[in-house]
Amino acid sequence: MTLDAITARLRAAELRAGRAPGSVTLIAVSKVQPPDKVEAVLAQGQRVFGENRVQEAQGRWPVFQARYPGVSLHLIGPLQSNKARAAVTMFDAIHSVDRFKLAETLARLADEAGRCPGLFVQVNTGAEPQKAGVLPDETEALVDAVRALSLPLIGLMCIPPAGRDPAPHFRHLAALAARTGLQGLSMGMSEDFETAVALGATHVRVGSAIFGERAPG
Ligand SMILES: *Cc1c(COP(=O)(O)O)cnc(C)c1O
Repeated sequence: MTLDAITARLRAAELRAGRAPGSVTLIAVSKVQPPDKVEAVLAQGQRVFGENRVQEAQGRWPVFQARYPGVSLHLIGPLQSNKARAAVTMFDAIHSVDRFKLAETLARLADEAGRCPGLFVQVNTGAEPQKAGVLPDETEALVDAVRALSLPLIGLMCIPPAGRDPAPHFRHLAALAARTGLQGLSMGMSEDFETAVALGATHVRVGSAIFGERAPG
């Protein structure tokens, strides 16, 4: 697959779902991919990218950003508090807000930095013990708390359990967003982004289908 092929599939999925063309943001997930592949996708015009590690992003994106204006960087992986300052400075969106303490830290750092990324609350829709995210039952309380901090909250994000039908998880996330009055839905990856668009995704996070399989480890 190439960027063009994925973009075409995304446009078709928007059309089938009765969504406006271009209304779903394609986040090209470049984590672990070699720089030449990332650069090739930049050269094709893609400007929204996802990374899952602050440190990896810090190491290579300043160089790309100097050469390709208008890049928007999304943090899609877990965020430790000691990396929050760097994340606030360099990312345009953070998809992994999953605890009140982190939201408080982000509010303080955003105040200092004079900028704040758009935020998504990550929901552990499958209630998997090893997975990050707030539990569905606790989502509303966390959303309220983030709002009370006057942070720019965009929506909710989920990563459904591997190897299972993602549709019920996407539906669940959409229902939680509707209940909390949030517009943004970050859901859908290489294997299931079309399903996610059909169920209301506003942001899809596609890695291997654009760049090829990631190197193991
Ligand atoms: C790696 C990753 C993706 C992209 O996964 P692909 O299957 O390669 O499309 C999407 N979201 C998150 C949170 C990820 O960590």
